[in-house]
Amino acid sequence: MLNLEDHSRIVVKIGSALLVEEGHLKRDWLNFLADDLCRLTKRGTEVIVVSSGAIALGRGVLGLPKGVLKLEESQGAAAVGQIELAEAYQKIFAHRGMTTGQVLLTLRDTEQRRRYLNARATVSTLLKLGAVPVINENDTVATTEIRYGDNDRLAARVATMVSADCLVLLSDIDGLYTAPPAENPLAEHIPVVERITREIESMAGAVGSELSRGGMKTKIEAGKIATNAGTAMVIASGKRLHPLTNIAQGGRCTWFKAHSTSATARKTWIAGQLKPTGQVTIDAGAEKALRKGKSLLPAGVTDVSGRFQRGDTVCIVDASGREIGRGLVAYDCDDAVRLVGHRSREIESILGYSSRAEMIHRDDMVLGDDD
Ligand code: GLU
Repeated sequence: MLNLEDHSRIVVKIGSALLVEEGHLKRDWLNFLADDLCRLTKRGTEVIVVSSGAIALGRGVLGLPKGVLKLEESQGAAAVGQIELAEAYQKIFAHRGMTTGQVLLTLRDTEQRRRYLNARATVSTLLKLGAVPVINENDTVATTEIRYGDNDRLAARVATMVSADCLVLLSDIDGLYTAPPAENPLAEHIPVVERITREIESMAGAVGSELSRGGMKTKIEAGKIATNAGTAMVIASGKRLHPLTNIAQGGRCTWFKAHSTSATARKTWIAGQLKPTGQVTIDAGAEKALRKGKSLLPAGVTDVSGRFQRGDTVCIVDASGREIGRGLVAYDCDDAVRLVGHRSREIESILGYSSRAEMIHRDDMVLGDDD
């Protein structure tokens, strides 16, 4: 289904470079986008906006110099810019009879299960009440280790959180090319990506523009989160006016097809975690057992690294370091280290208390493709 208008719940991510020029909000552009969003909602489509721009706007208001900001400067700029941004959305949507609700999220709100469920409930309630959620990262309190830093992956997490069927990333480029077009004039545009393979990943360059943090690399990462959870993704240029109408009319963009998924919502959440806090290395026998649907026992673990607590997400890797899957670990890292290679019946004598026989239970585990 590669028609925008066939989708019923769409997350639209708007990059800073589209919204802000020389520290000022591009109100005209936003008005055209609001027309598009309004048209979609009139058709019965639910829309959620993930908008960047707080830092870029705030730095304009505060007169901060060009170039990379210190963390505390971007936090301050976000505090100033976010009010402007929210006010602009509120006014522009109200003008079209639409209500908006601001939701500011941090990485922890999506990575901790309880907070995630809470955020999901809030966004769902706004939709039910007919308000358009306008979401950004809460950059005023996000510090380096606990921040998304780019709204591409935040938007993908939001899209999977609310089970959107489509995620649109509006950016300053009209899709994915075989190589970054700025570096390679022969690069060809790719209209449809069936699956994000390593080859597709290698087509994205590394850098973003001065205003937008992401660049193509984080867009592809966003695509992995979205498509694996059953959400299609589109990368399209927002430079033209009415960018959503343009996509709906078959304008140039790149579609990333969604994969149908039978995974439970909980497993989808585990798979989409951005920052697993640790890693367990397993032997070939354990990998075979996991592929047959078994749980991971301490006996099959050859190494444990990282600082994590019981219930945190860890990566499961093979002897070569390749990620096989992810899961919620049943032990704190200090205890997990002590159990490496031991039989489950030894757990009580090693730790001094009896606990789960599995290091990671199969219900708490998601495995990647065996390619
Ligand atoms: N959250 C940041 C802001 O509003 C933008 C991050 C990004 O550029 O993706 O300024």
